Formats: sequence, C-alpha cells, structure tokens
Amino acid sequence: MPRCSFFNHMDSKRPYSIAVHGGAGTILREAMNAELEQHYSEALTLAIHCGEAILNNGGKAVDAVEAAVATLEDSELFNAGKGAVFTNDGTHELDASIMDGHHRRAGAVAGVKHIQNPVKLCRHIMEHSGHVFMLGSGAEQFALEQGFGLVENSFFSTEFRREQWLKLKDTDVTALDHSAHHLRKFGTVGAVAYDRNGNLAAATSTGGITNKRYGRVGDSAIIGAGTYAENGICAVSATGYGEFFIRGVAAYEVAALIKHAKLSLQQACNEIIFEAIPKLGGDGGLIAINNKGEIYMPFNTKGMYRAAKRENEELQLGIYEDK
Ligand code: ASP
Repeated sequence: MPRCSFFNHMDSKRPYSIAVHGGAGTILREAMNAELEQHYSEALTLAIHCGEAILNNGGKAVDAVEAAVATLEDSELFNAGKGAVFTNDGTHELDASIMDGHHRRAGAVAGVKHIQNPVKLCRHIMEHSGHVFMLGSGAEQFALEQGFGLVENSFFSTEFRREQWLKLKDTDVTALDHSAHHLRKFGTVGAVAYDRNGNLAAATSTGGITNKRYGRVGDSAIIGAGTYAENGICAVSATGYGEFFIRGVAAYEVAALIKHAKLSLQQACNEIIFEAIPKLGGDGGLIAINNKGEIYMPFNTKGMYRAAKRENEELQLGIYEDK
C-alpha cells in the first residue's frame, strides 16, 4: 500500500481541516462486503493523511487537495486516473480541476488521455500557463513542455471498468458509474481543505460517465460547477450527474448563497443538494469547508464515499446515509 510521511505538529494559527470524497450514488450496504468496505476506508484514509501531512506542516490548502486527489487517482477503486471508466470507443478521457481560494486562481483539463494524474496538470495550468482550461491533445502538449511524462491510454484500464462498458457499448446509454447495478460502485474523487493561514482550496478528478461520447465533458472539469474555492467563503467539490451540476452551477452557488444570501455552510449546501439539483432532475453530493474550517458533506443519493479530518479531532469516515 502506498504511504505518505507525516511531519511534526506545529503550533496552530487556525486549526486546519480537510475532506475527501470518492463519489456519490447507489451505494448500498447489502451490496458491499467487509473486505471491500475496508479497501474504501483505507483509500479514503490514505488520501486524508497525505493532505493532512501537508497541512500539519504548515503547508497550503492547495497543496493538500492536490496531494489528496492524486492519491485517489492512483487508487483503482475510484473513477479517476487509474480505474477510470471507458468511453463509447473503448478509451478513457479524463476531466479534472483545481482552485486555490487565495486570489481565486484555477486550472482545469478535459478529455485528456495520457496524463497519469490529471490534477497535477491542472496545478501546472493554474501556475504556469496564464490560462485556466485546456482540452485534450493541447493540454497534453503543454504537459510535455512542462516535463510531464505521458502514459498509454490503456494504463487507466481495469477489468471491472471494461465489464461495465461492455454491457453498454452497443447502446446509447451512458451510466454514472456509481449508479450502475453492480456490487461495486466507484466514483469521481475530490478534496477540499482549509489551512492554518485561512486559505481554502478544492480539487476534483474523474473519468466521467461510462460509454460517454462526442467529447462529453462533465462538471468535474468546470470551475463553478464541480469545483470552487474562495478564501473567506468556502471550498466545494461535487459529485453526481455532471450535466445537472453544470446547469445548476452547483459549486459556485453554494459559495454565492453564503456570500450574498448570508446562509450558513449547511444551509447553502442543503439548498443546492436537496432543492436546486433535484428540481433540475439530478442527484449527487458534495463536500464543503467554510472560512472557519467547518466541514459539511451532504448527498441526496444512497451513499457517498467520504472522509473528513479537523486538526485535533478524530477522522470521520462514511459510505452510507447512516455512516
Ligand atoms: N460528476 C461526474 C461527471 O458527470 C461523475 C461523477 O461524479 O461520478 O462527469
């Protein structure tokens, strides 16, 4: 199992917090087994630990979300990086984004096929390109110039994902991978963090939906839809049927309700997840942290893989509605 190192505890300015998700959907206890549950718990815990190691050392929220999401991309359990779902033509197209609440800087990619950790490329786009959003082969050309290696597209393939796709490939049906009728349900990944200097950041990464075509891009690549962070307000990473989160401008709406309507974090998230998105016909969930480091992780589906940690508090892990 991959590891990350911990650093010495430092005196806090503000207590840090971090949360991660591994997708929301039809995740039922009766369809799980203890071993699989444990794999999920370990993967989510490792992601929290990798982000926490950075925060505990006085590091930045944006570094913590990048590290946490990269860890989840490396896990085959989730639909991001290795283990991503198949497109209609039997390949993988990855979407991701990152936002630093400090100055609201952002980077995003859509439809990349050869980048092992798309979230790391998002970070480079944010910091070294003068742009926010890059697509497919252009993004990969930029990656090469930045010293990234490219991987074969088959690097992302797993047998389980291939089976999911084979069931759909001759149809027009697309499937949210965590809502497919399978014993194992995997999803998009994301992280939000609050550091000791009060900075907020968010990142999201996905393979999208099984059997997607025509260059379909979901909310995970779109700043304001699947990812948003603004210092002083909140950081949000969403998961669910991307089309509805794009139409609902979901991640930004949470921030707008806090900023302009003066709602609490919980009220703002509930408004989006239990009112606005269902009204559009969508479902899903999100993780969010506000400017006090408070964490909220609502979902309107049967489950959402999730974990959260505030400095000096116990790790919280959950999969189903009742934990
Ligand atoms: N939001 C992602 C998309 O629509 C899917 C997911 O959250 O699993 O691409």
